[in-house]
Amino acid sequence: MPIPTPTHADARLVGHIIGDQETGAADEAIERRAPGTDEIVSRVLAGGAPEVAAAVGAARGAFDEGPWPRLTVAERAAALHRVADLIDAHADELARLDAEESGKPLTTAEGDIGGAAGLWRYAAALALTMKGQTFTGNGPDYTGLVLREPIGVVGLIIPWNFPALILSQKLPFALAAGCTAVVKPSEFTSSSAHLLVRLIAQAGIPAGVVNLVVGDGRAGQALVESEGVDLVSFTGSTATGRRVMTAAAGNMKKISLELGGKAANIVFADADLEDAAAGVVHGVTFNNGECCVSQPRLLVHASVADDFVQEVARRMQRIRVGQPLDRATQLGALIHAPHLARVKGFVADAVRFGGEIVTGGGDPAGSDLGNGQFIAPAVIDRVAADAPVFQEEIFGPVLGVTRFTDPAEAIRLANGVQYGLANTIWSKSTDTVLDVAKALRSGTVYVNTTIDAPAQMPFGGYKASGIGREMGEAGFEEFTELKSVSIRTGKRVHTFPG
Ligand code: NAP
Repeated sequence: MPIPTPTHADARLVGHIIGDQETGAADEAIERRAPGTDEIVSRVLAGGAPEVAAAVGAARGAFDEGPWPRLTVAERAAALHRVADLIDAHADELARLDAEESGKPLTTAEGDIGGAAGLWRYAAALALTMKGQTFTGNGPDYTGLVLREPIGVVGLIIPWNFPALILSQKLPFALAAGCTAVVKPSEFTSSSAHLLVRLIAQAGIPAGVVNLVVGDGRAGQALVESEGVDLVSFTGSTATGRRVMTAAAGNMKKISLELGGKAANIVFADADLEDAAAGVVHGVTFNNGECCVSQPRLLVHASVADDFVQEVARRMQRIRVGQPLDRATQLGALIHAPHLARVKGFVADAVRFGGEIVTGGGDPAGSDLGNGQFIAPAVIDRVAADAPVFQEEIFGPVLGVTRFTDPAEAIRLANGVQYGLANTIWSKSTDTVLDVAKALRSGTVYVNTTIDAPAQMPFGGYKASGIGREMGEAGFEEFTELKSVSIRTGKRVHTFPG
């Protein structure tokens, strides 16, 4: 059936959108329960290889024969602006869908949607700047053209922690370059992607340019394996990222991987310790701690550690844990029961490794929290560098504290994990800040602020945190190929005279 005008109510049965057809019913659907209440809030069709093949076929047709890659950049930019305006117009619905399905606080989801609209506008600006290069230094009869072209059909695989935002870190940049796309959201949080793809159709972007296949990891796997896809841009765990690398080998498609993290907040004795304490709490509780740049490690100078840890614990105890849709909530519900059990497991494990629980880690107080996946935010002191709580991604509001005595030790500790996504430095010394920032092996470094960077800054990981960059000019260029065209004018000099 043709794509109808979106409404919140009918977004709850989440089907595929392939070309101009929307699949509205099927035998097999995945029930999504709200993490805050355990009530069923959506039913998601379980797509697999056949739906992926149809969606890739639609995207391939739209790329090879459709108008989208052939439009002027001004026309593409105008369409992206229309999508941004529609996102603004549907911001309340989109935010509610993401908060309900992911368990994040509604206020955080509202920030995500505002950010998402901004990303569509930024990508529109980048579309206008799309250009190649020329090279004329190889003799007077030589002209070299370096053409920048859209890479083709892209597969975009999205995690559950920032459903609309991470989709918007990829899709508008791909569209700006002239690509066509197949989107696979997480089975836990598919509704906002579904609404967004409807809005994209409403904005006048031609059918087949953006297609949606919903379902679990099998749909993602089929998309990565598809021979009709030229690039997969994946955001998710490092474990799944490794599977993506292998599955992409068939047609040697380009891959961009945004994976896990294990950021540290490094607090030096000369920092503004009040700002640092507020930043540390924000760093580990923002988005429930379910954030790739969450800061679950606090590395603090031994000379200020005792008082600083007490101040952080005091602030953690004031965090309001509550229902995601309650505007007063600062920490919502974790994504599902197995994940909550895993996060609590880290707390128990930390004690076995000699850590001392300062606060939290158990069930929070609250009369309406009984059926949801809630945890009181935790601070664990004296965490050893070889403990799982120091080494592994927790993805929950659990902070492990480790003391250091000099900058070299702080750098060694910060870099001593497999991940390299982000780190934060708190110090008022320019020497300390610059020396440590250069020594950190991570794609992002925040200084005297945390989880704070605009879309113009490229984002991505060192080491096991990924390959490639998102956002910024580098993020746009990920969706392009370069073609070198070498031209000689005039009469040729023959290699073998005839
Ligand atoms: P995940 O389990 O790896 O899933 C990510 C996406 O991949 C989901 O859409 C998932 O579908 C799909 N998928 C599952 N198996 C697949 C396979 N074999 N092939 C292709 N796709 C497959 O990650 P998550 O739990 O959703 O997200 C949390 C992780 O994402 C954390 O590790 C976090 O650090 C990372 N993350 C990284 C960034 C970054 O920018 N670096 C940003 C946000 C999150 P289903 O969900 O339906 O199974």
